[in-house]
Amino acid sequence: EAPAGAEPLKKRLGVMGGTFDPIHHGHLVAASEVASLFQLDEVVFVPTGRPWQKSGRPVSAAEDRYLMTVIATASNPQFSVSRIDIDRSGPTYTIDTLRELQSEHPDADLFFITGADALEQILSWRDAEELFDLAHFIGVTRPGHTLTDPGLPEGGVSLVEVPALAISSTDCRKRVARGEPVWYLVPDGVVRYIDKRRLYADLLDDLDDLD
Ligand code: ATP
Ligand code: MG
Repeated sequence: EAPAGAEPLKKRLGVMGGTFDPIHHGHLVAASEVASLFQLDEVVFVPTGRPWQKSGRPVSAAEDRYLMTVIATASNPQFSVSRIDIDRSGPTYTIDTLRELQSEHPDADLFFITGADALEQILSWRDAEELFDLAHFIGVTRPGHTLTDPGLPEGGVSLVEVPALAISSTDCRKRVARGEPVWYLVPDGVVRYIDKRRLYADLLDDLDDLD
């Protein structure tokens, strides 16, 4: 209970959106690092519904991507997974995700965590102004992506360097398709789930389409 006259402490809620096809240790390290640096109370992972950015290649079923995300985050009490994007029909727009999370958590400050590559596209998003009202944006650098000055609004964006992890979902899918190991690139339970559901195995014929 806050003392009379004092502002109650707002919950600091991280939001990690992604396709998570599959989720890998790059995602998990980024979320963990940002949670520590920004003193977040919780990070909610939000697997996308139909990602409009990736309409070119087949994306695994939403339920598989959701379950892999649950498996990967289950042991961390600070991490949770939301179904809001996969349960909403149509393509996923970050603005809808943030609006819905804000109404679910009216007392929280939202921190949207995204890769440096994705951050550069923010300027091209519709409703960029409202996006910055809804959340503070945190761009994490990843290997192979140097940030050019994105010209983003002052104070609305932070850039953070996370321990470099040259892991991508694209590379994980290619490895599975070629029969190469993904142990230690993704959590053990995710390796088992990919195997159990035979995800990515039949992509061998069109490896070029995997990107
Ligand atoms: P794909 O290769 O299919 O594009 P991905 O590895 O980029 O997949 P996404 O689900 O698209 O994974 O990523 C979700 C978010 O996590 C994005 O903002 C992305 O930039 C970020 N991200 C992905 N990999 C890393 C990594 N190794 N380190 C830090 N951030 C990452
Ligand atoms: Mg990506």
